[in-house]
Amino acid sequence: MNALTQAAMRAIAPEIAVAAIPDDERVWVPQAPDVWFRPLLFNIASGGWCNLLRVRRSGVLSRHRHPMVVVGYVIKGRWRYLEHDWIAEEGSFVYEPPGEIHTLTVPDDCAEMITFFNIGGAMIYLDEQGRQIGYEDVWTKIEMCRNHYASCGLTADFAEQFIR
Ligand code: FE
Repeated sequence: MNALTQAAMRAIAPEIAVAAIPDDERVWVPQAPDVWFRPLLFNIASGGWCNLLRVRRSGVLSRHRHPMVVVGYVIKGRWRYLEHDWIAEEGSFVYEPPGEIHTLTVPDDCAEMITFFNIGGAMIYLDEQGRQIGYEDVWTKIEMCRNHYASCGLTADFAEQFIR
């Protein structure tokens, strides 16, 4: 391997291979009451992230749109978007087109749902009139993780392992 190749190789961050559902409950970052996310990858080069979303309550979670593509895979439970008549259930793959507005809802008879999401760009939260009421991007997610891991004893540095 020549010096140039070695330099290029050093610039490539290592792979990530982790148990997606962690043994340590502290790895789940509280998002809202009975809602958590588990970070898997923070892509600060392209702006996006991969995580598991875990919800242990029913009802409307959020109305939102994404500027970029989102894909998901349901690991446990089920959920739907009010704007569509399909239900995402255990084993379902979901593609969300950029720009679509949808309202994530968990049915009453689902005690827990866990879904893997690969989110490009951002979550833009909207009210009923379509006005922006908040957003999340890779930087706000990293900040949430750092704050949670610092307060739960895993230390803020715990979030660094997911950044690429
Ligand atoms: Fe979405």
